Amino acid sequence: MKYSALKGVHDIYPPDIYIWQKVESAAEEVFSAYGFHELRVPIIESTDIFVRSIGETTDIVEKEMYTFPDKADRSITLRPEGTAPVVRSYVENHFYNLPSPQKFYYSGPMFRYERPQKGRFRQFYQIGAEAFGASEPKLDAEILSMLKLFFERLDITGLTFEVNSIGCEKCRPDYKKALSDFFSKKTSELCPDCKRRHINNPLRILDCKVDSCIELRKGAPQVTDYLCTECREHFNGLLSFLKLLNITHKINPNMVRGLDYYTRTTFEVTSEHLGAQKAVAAGGRYDRLVEEFGGPPTPAIGFAIGMERLITMIKDRNKKEIEQAPKAFLATIGSRADIEGLSIAEKLRADGIQVELGYGNASLKSQLRRADKLGANYVFIIGDDELKSGIIKWKNLKDSSQGEIGIKEVSGFQGFYNQQK
Ligand SMILES: [Zn+2]
Ligand SMILES: [Zn+2]
Repeated sequence: MKYSALKGVHDIYPPDIYIWQKVESAAEEVFSAYGFHELRVPIIESTDIFVRSIGETTDIVEKEMYTFPDKADRSITLRPEGTAPVVRSYVENHFYNLPSPQKFYYSGPMFRYERPQKGRFRQFYQIGAEAFGASEPKLDAEILSMLKLFFERLDITGLTFEVNSIGCEKCRPDYKKALSDFFSKKTSELCPDCKRRHINNPLRILDCKVDSCIELRKGAPQVTDYLCTECREHFNGLLSFLKLLNITHKINPNMVRGLDYYTRTTFEVTSEHLGAQKAVAAGGRYDRLVEEFGGPPTPAIGFAIGMERLITMIKDRNKKEIEQAPKAFLATIGSRADIEGLSIAEKLRADGIQVELGYGNASLKSQLRRADKLGANYVFIIGDDELKSGIIKWKNLKDSSQGEIGIKEVSGFQGFYNQQK
């Protein structure tokens, strides 16, 4: 019997896993500096929270959710995104009683039943953040600034910040009407999905990836021309804060985002390295969603970063940085040396030094070969003579320098602390 992972899911293992860990700790570090706390929400939720928030007519809800009845016949869904669960948690745990704004970040797998293709998975990973309780554009700008710092921390360049405002419940109906009028002369040429979108939510035609629809929307009315005074002021406020913070950005009036819950600010961070699927982070404001979930009126904004795309960018850039080599390899000859080696290794490990040992009575030669394969920085050789004299030999595998050190002094060995990695 041979087993393999399901279609569209993947294992993550060394050396790639070290990039994942690096990205996760960069997020933790940067987001904490902005006052975000980690929130761990479940992977399964009641189906209606996604239908309600993401919208019944979206591709996610219509085609892509992993939805199934549990043993008590409740409809359960594997989360396709992180915002709805976080909002559910915010309301359920009464976080709105705490001083505003409350800020959370999350990280973990999401699930969408998509046609597997390069860079797209059915179980994929996101790191996201959500901030509740402030409507000022200052917060929107801070969020974009936080993303900028996060990407800088990972040495990712060639990014573009695209921003837009899609208005509020006051001004969006006018825009929807204008858009609907614009497309009503062309309905026969729209793709089948957009024919339905034209009736249910014409905004979503702007999201369509079908070439003929992209062609048809040339000259369509732009949302930024339909903003009410408050939305206009909010958007202008955001733009001036972005200028102040030196965040180079581009206004993209076609960026409406695929989900129903967005209001006002929407944004995407795109990379020139990613081809057609170029967004590496995306988000926006959702000032009505907390109320929809039964909470008090609470403005909110958030984003999600697509981990797989981000990891690909880092991997393509530099294969070297994903090495995770042990600092020391203890080669031992004989059973007494084996015991001594183990106890030295334990001391070093307690000091946080990564140590590997020889196994299986391997010859010195084959132990050295293994140390080299692992990319170890230093090898220590312990045999009967060394045990007698109390002095062991070390060798630096990177520059071939060598020397001796007292067996009791190994844990203070300078070589571990000199090199920066
Ligand atoms: Zn408005
Ligand atoms: Zn279309």
